[in-house]
Amino acid sequence: MVTSSVPEQQVLTPAAVFDWLDEAAELRARAGLTRTLRSRPAEDPVLDLANNDYLGLVHHPAVTRAAADAVMRWGGGSTGSRLVTGTTELHTELERELAEFCGFEAALVFSSGYAANLAALTALTDPDTLIVSDAYNHASLIDGCRLSRSDVHRAPHSDPAAVAEALATRTHRRALVVSDTVFSVDGNAAPLAGLASAARAHGAALLLDDAHGFGVLGPGGTGAPAAAGLSGQPDVVATVTLSKSLGSQGGAVLGPRRVIRHLTETARTFIFDTGLAPAAVGAALGALRLLRAEPQRADRAREVARTLADRLTAAGLRASTPDAAVVSVRAPGPEAAVQWAADCRTAGLAVGCFRPPSVPDGISRLRLTARGDLTDDQISQAVEIVRAMEPVEE
Ligand code: PMP
Repeated sequence: MVTSSVPEQQVLTPAAVFDWLDEAAELRARAGLTRTLRSRPAEDPVLDLANNDYLGLVHHPAVTRAAADAVMRWGGGSTGSRLVTGTTELHTELERELAEFCGFEAALVFSSGYAANLAALTALTDPDTLIVSDAYNHASLIDGCRLSRSDVHRAPHSDPAAVAEALATRTHRRALVVSDTVFSVDGNAAPLAGLASAARAHGAALLLDDAHGFGVLGPGGTGAPAAAGLSGQPDVVATVTLSKSLGSQGGAVLGPRRVIRHLTETARTFIFDTGLAPAAVGAALGALRLLRAEPQRADRAREVARTLADRLTAAGLRASTPDAAVVSVRAPGPEAAVQWAADCRTAGLAVGCFRPPSVPDGISRLRLTARGDLTDDQISQAVEIVRAMEPVEE
């Protein structure tokens, strides 16, 4: 029999085992970090700049019809893991078209961008690999680093010289440089050319998370790697999500054919996960084909972002300088950010509210999505509502 080393009087009763969660919630509340779920009605009259629907495609008939057709043809679910029954012809078509659109040899679709990042980081590394990861990388990349069993060097944000130094002084045979292409909080772009030369000077591969660049950057929205001349290169792997610019759900890894083959045969989040639902695959394909036919959609999203940021700055707010379709506005602290976001909503504008721990630099912000389908009137309306917030004190 196994005996517990915890003194009997300290053993918690079943009713009390989760008491510590209330204490943790209380600590979060005192720090202004309570998070609550809000369910969104289908007919919500607010102007929604809190979502990630960068091109405004989530309700586009070409997208919803493709999703509905996929459901009617293939059913509600994919029925199994990708290697067993979960790969429909639609999955294969999406993979082929995604790779072609973004300029890579091959692509592999996952049930989310999160799963795609975990796959790339765990399957392309080993204990003899050093991962050099930007300090502001997305949580899914950080979790992928943790799962990788590799040594991880957290490099200062957007600093290719620091990346080069970490690579030069490593004792590991292999190395992988990992970065978001566009950072989700401020919408600033990573220095891809600098990261690529640092990686190449030291024999490292490059893994780029293009969640916020795909559909917005590059010719016709073909992504940040294409814009930087890095797509299709033998040492470059990219990940994307289908849930932002494509108005669907799911993720993908793009890269050299041998990388995709390796992921197909070894990545745990591919092998042990159910294949992406046909509706999501259909919606993503519908959106991708629309984007190919109407490449100006990507330009418009970038133009909206610049206009929005310029007008917010002119109104005296501390707006970020956007490189893609995200604009943030600094708030004095987490409570103020929450209050601002609530006031915006009351005034008819939904915005994102970023606070620690979701902001790596500890600065709380409002986050506005510069959707490519916004009209000039809607941009003005958003600026008017946000400018009514109290000015930021340093
Ligand atoms: N990477 C980045 C940079 C993201 O912002 C997100 C989503 N917020 C993801 C990956 C995860 O993608 P998904 O939502 O498809 O899991």
